[in-house]
Amino acid sequence: MPAPLLHIESSPALPTAADVVVIGGGIVGVSAAYYLARRGLRVALVEKGRIGAEQSSRNWGWCRQQNRDARELPMATKSLALWDRFAAEIGEDPGFRRCGLLYLSNDESELATWARWQDVARPAGVPTRMLAAHEANDLGRATGQQWKGGVLSPSDGIADPAGAAPIIARGILKAGGSVHQNCAARGLETEGGRVGGVVTEAGTIRTRVVVHAGGAWASSFCRQLGFAFPQSSVRASILALAPGAQGLPDALHTAAVSITRRGDGGHTLAISGRARVDITPQKLRFAGDFLPMFLKRRALVAPGGLEGWRLGFETLARWRLDAPTPMERVRILDPRPDTAQIRDTHERACRLLPTLRHLPVAASWAGYIDSTPDGIPAIGEVPGLPGFILAAGFSGHGFGIGPGAGHLIADLVTGAAPIVDPAAYRPERLASGAWGKVAEF
Ligand SMILES: Cc1cc2nc3c(=O)[nH]c(=O)nc-3n(C[C@H](O)[C@H](O)[C@H](O)COP(=O)(O)OP(=O)(O)OC[C@H]3O[C@@H](n4cnc5c(N)ncnc54)[C@H](O)[C@@H]3O)c2cc1C
Repeated sequence: MPAPLLHIESSPALPTAADVVVIGGGIVGVSAAYYLARRGLRVALVEKGRIGAEQSSRNWGWCRQQNRDARELPMATKSLALWDRFAAEIGEDPGFRRCGLLYLSNDESELATWARWQDVARPAGVPTRMLAAHEANDLGRATGQQWKGGVLSPSDGIADPAGAAPIIARGILKAGGSVHQNCAARGLETEGGRVGGVVTEAGTIRTRVVVHAGGAWASSFCRQLGFAFPQSSVRASILALAPGAQGLPDALHTAAVSITRRGDGGHTLAISGRARVDITPQKLRFAGDFLPMFLKRRALVAPGGLEGWRLGFETLARWRLDAPTPMERVRILDPRPDTAQIRDTHERACRLLPTLRHLPVAASWAGYIDSTPDGIPAIGEVPGLPGFILAAGFSGHGFGIGPGAGHLIADLVTGAAPIVDPAAYRPERLASGAWGKVAEF
């Protein structure tokens, strides 16, 4: 069974013109379209499959500041404040609650890394508290194990991946925008050296501004426009247990396994950072760019197979605008989960929290996590193509910071004061290869 997802209806007809077209209905695209529509712009969002059906419904749901890279921390903090407001603004609850995130460890070097992160958190005013052994044992009592320590980030939280993107998409409709599912954007038309329209499988929408929030598909799309966007993805596998477990922390990280309480009362289980690297043409092309990240994370990633090649989202091929593209062939990127990883994750979770042993596995799935070489997203206008704004490469953090990213995009489009300094996200840093250090987590 795949990741659960709330289904929403599309708008009745594709408009022939819009102030802004957003490509991609993941958390980033829906957030951008939502904040643009609330500012009174005519916004059309096109999604090749279903709203939220790729990464944005396949994740753990963590919305965290804890352990964020300093470049991303301001956006994480602002995003939490935006998550707080959705339910009241939209009139439907995307399941966000500031339940706090609990990290437990017996590894001195891991504890030291978390303690060092307080130097990033303190100046930013982010509350985070290192836990002494007795506190870790108290908060982690459900594990029945002894812990050397931990860290608690009380103002962080989780939202419901099954509902968040669709509910924000309903917010777009309420604000006067339109949402079109099963509608792939094939490419762009230009006019006088800038964006002039978006060619979709259902017709062309005239517009001067396009936001591409296509997740793992972004680089192959950018390639059609002559922009080299170094992007790569890993396949992470995850499972959900049926409801029934009581007395567990809502969100718990340990090196062995992490658990998260879902909106339906069940729990999602996963091993942090564990993933398969599936070979694709794009991965080969950008291998050099991703070497530092790969070396940093090599203990957790393992070679995969040809799954990614088969699905075609990291193709180097050029496509025509008057014929079906790879995006129409694969409406939803739904890779096969790694059964060995699923089994291992389940066993680890049952060892950590024996109460989980009695609960049936409700679902298991995989998702491709798209990343940039430095682990920081690319958000901003692409050089050489005025009107084309890229927002991709969220590197495993995009669910939590999606609302802030969407708000920033709306700021950039409307010329409003940006919610956070956009400098760290500029896409051109990647094209030139002049990016900074690889993000720590
Ligand atoms: C297993 C797993 C666990 C994770 N855990 C967390 C977590 O706990 N916290 C966190 O913050 N992040 C987490 N992430 C990462 C997070 O899910 C992503 O960073 C985030 O969802 C990315 O959102 P997005 O909108 O950029 O992309 P997506 O959600 O992938 O959406 C992109 C959309 O664009 C559409 N699209 C692409 N090309 C086109 C086109 N040409 N025309 C029309 N539509 C197009 C796709 O169909 C897709 O729906 C996790 C990811 C995974 C897979």
